[in-house]
Amino acid sequence: MDEIENLGYVPILDEMLHEVDAEEKRASLWHHSEKLAVAFGLLGGVAPPGKPLRIVKNLRICKDCHEAFRYISTVTEREIIVRDAHRYHRFSNGTCNCGNIW
Ligand SMILES: [Zn+2]
Ligand SMILES: [Zn+2]
Repeated sequence: MDEIENLGYVPILDEMLHEVDAEEKRASLWHHSEKLAVAFGLLGGVAPPGKPLRIVKNLRICKDCHEAFRYISTVTEREIIVRDAHRYHRFSNGTCNCGNIW
């Protein structure tokens, strides 16, 4: 997360509850299931190097994860493919094939 923040990633906090402070919001965004899935995929060598990471989510990917994955695809030089409830998102080199319209 530090690496992608250095690249310019800014957490999108607007979908979250108002009662928690900004630092807590930021921390809780890191624990979204799709981000954990990417982290485990990268750390655990689940997907061989050079191969895309594939994630399936039965809900719609949230705005912040979509934003984060754009940056993660740059930092890790990996393609990340997320199938969510609405469509396929294919992140590569900082962009998504949905045109980043999320
Ligand atoms: Zn999320
Ligand atoms: Zn997308």
